[in-house]
Amino acid sequence: MTRENDRTFSVLFGQASRRQFLKGVVSSTAALATGGGAALSTRRAVGAAEPTREPSGVTRLSDHVLVYHGPTNVGIVRNGAEALLIDCGDGSVAEVLSRIGVRKVTQLVFTHHHRDQACGANRFVESGAKTAVPAAEKNLFADPSAYWNNDGNIFRVYRTFRPDHLTLIEPIRVDRELKDGDELIFGSARIRVLATPGHTAGSLSFVVEVDGQTVVFSGDCIFDAGQVWDLYSLQKGFSKGGRTIGGYHGFMGDRWRLVESLNRIKQVGAGALVPSHGRIMFHPDRAIDLLAERFEACYENYVSISALRHYFPELFTDYAGRPGQMPIRPGFPPPKCLQHFGTTWMLVSQTGAAFVMDVGSPRIVTQIKQKLQRGEIKSVEGLWVTHYHFDHTAGIVDFQQAFDCPCYADRRLAQVLTQPSAWRLPCVDPRPIRVHRPLEDGQSWQWHEFKMTSYYYPGQTLYHDALLVEHGDLRMLFVGDSHTMAGLDDYCTYNRNWLGRGVGFQYCLSLIEQLKPTHMFNCHVNDAFTFTRREIAFMRKKLNEREKLFGELLAWDHANYGTDPSWVRCDPYMQKVTAGQKVRFEVVVTNHSVEPQPTAVRAVPPKSLGAAPSDWSERRAAAKAETRFPLALAIPSGTKPGRHVIAIDVRHGARRLPQFAETIIEVAAGG
Ligand SMILES: [Zn+2]
Ligand SMILES: [Zn+2]
Repeated sequence: MTRENDRTFSVLFGQASRRQFLKGVVSSTAALATGGGAALSTRRAVGAAEPTREPSGVTRLSDHVLVYHGPTNVGIVRNGAEALLIDCGDGSVAEVLSRIGVRKVTQLVFTHHHRDQACGANRFVESGAKTAVPAAEKNLFADPSAYWNNDGNIFRVYRTFRPDHLTLIEPIRVDRELKDGDELIFGSARIRVLATPGHTAGSLSFVVEVDGQTVVFSGDCIFDAGQVWDLYSLQKGFSKGGRTIGGYHGFMGDRWRLVESLNRIKQVGAGALVPSHGRIMFHPDRAIDLLAERFEACYENYVSISALRHYFPELFTDYAGRPGQMPIRPGFPPPKCLQHFGTTWMLVSQTGAAFVMDVGSPRIVTQIKQKLQRGEIKSVEGLWVTHYHFDHTAGIVDFQQAFDCPCYADRRLAQVLTQPSAWRLPCVDPRPIRVHRPLEDGQSWQWHEFKMTSYYYPGQTLYHDALLVEHGDLRMLFVGDSHTMAGLDDYCTYNRNWLGRGVGFQYCLSLIEQLKPTHMFNCHVNDAFTFTRREIAFMRKKLNEREKLFGELLAWDHANYGTDPSWVRCDPYMQKVTAGQKVRFEVVVTNHSVEPQPTAVRAVPPKSLGAAPSDWSERRAAAKAETRFPLALAIPSGTKPGRHVIAIDVRHGARRLPQFAETIIEVAAGG
């Protein structure tokens, strides 16, 4: 990873942004000064002292404010031999405290509830530290099991997206709740609380005033100048032009709120901005302005070919007609052999036999039965499924009881359909579906007068397929939800839309070029449509630009790390075990980098399980591929029945990612 170089850079030259340094975005004073003596350069902080070299991994911003650079940054505010910590990360900060003369941590304050910020807290709480957390996230600290035991947070997630996938696996006692405007005094430091929602709904920043300086600790609001840690945390519904969309459709939906938060941080006029991940910024204004600019450029690129413009034009009136936006072509009527109701397309043969695509609700089964009774169709002979979202599958269990016919799906999609609880994906219905014919990519069969060919189609989601139906001059391509005539359906990051050559929508567009359909069909659109060669070339160009733009915006060496929340996932996601047995699962790491990466994972059970962490499983993860790491953990007999969450520590390239993924076990009574 190129970030390895960054690390070297910060050790050699202090904490100024390497990107700024190299690009010379910042005028010479600040960036170059850090190259020499690492001066804390600031416009407004009066009497700014020079950060001094401290035990490795610690930056001293002033006598009383230090920053520990572990897997996350931890703020250390000192009062004699006591310290207040701002976030505590995995707790490894404890190892340097004594070396800088701190004997006791008496207070912990948290910017937000994510595991990587807080998973090391209990060691300090047990030795007497008091905690203060964002009031809006209190329950996620004090009672995370309520979150994990609520199936609504795991299955059928549609309207209310909240980036809570990094919720703690065990509780942290809460002593105080913090709100905007609150103040804490710690020794000679005054700490003001600033509400800065965006990365999470309740995120706070802390303005520390001491030694004549002002430093802001901003959690995950910003990673570095013009960069954020991830985009999937900003998945959120929003309203515009009288229309409201839910979280599922809200790609980057919380970026406005985040930019508002960052503007509040700007108003503080701090000399240094300390992010949870990333390097200290000594020009907060420029860092924030660059981020706001990049957000706009990224969003404009996203909108330019978004299928969402077809469904919700009111949301995008600012962009309509701008140069660089793909015009939306009208559709045209489908051929007579097709019927469309709900999200179902039904192909009817000259013989009267019907072939059904998707069954989104039991109502669809009733409608099919009525068609049989009325003699509109003579029989139901097959079911093909486009993807796993419940608005396409929730009637399949009923359908399979009513009609004895084979169910077809691409074999990758079939894995999700047949074992849905093994996956954490949006809109998953937890009831398993029988798939009789898992299909290979390009597999063909004849159905009456129609030739059918199944294709893997990683469009709307990574687990999606397409069906080409040919007859005479007709070449009908059923693309599920992947396109409207406005472009690409990639508005929910949790569906895993990869950017890059030969993956995601680039793959799909190549397939369209190759198959040359006369008609394309979306499950939610009555009309047929196609794309011209020019439109396909335009969409490709936009995707290439997007890979670059998102790459600049995100904190990683490839954009996909910041847009794919499942690049580290557990297979299965959820399973049942009996106490006293071993639980086995695999951690699946998608290396989105262009180089192989040394990668290691281990399982970290919650204390309540009374089991030790597993050994590290270590391998080189091949570039642009999935690597599987098998892990096993003994579940002690006497473990309380119910749901337990096991976290996964990850090392990938130069990055250490504490508790970055999780697997859920449901312990049955026994053992
Ligand atoms: Zn976070
Ligand atoms: Zn869908």
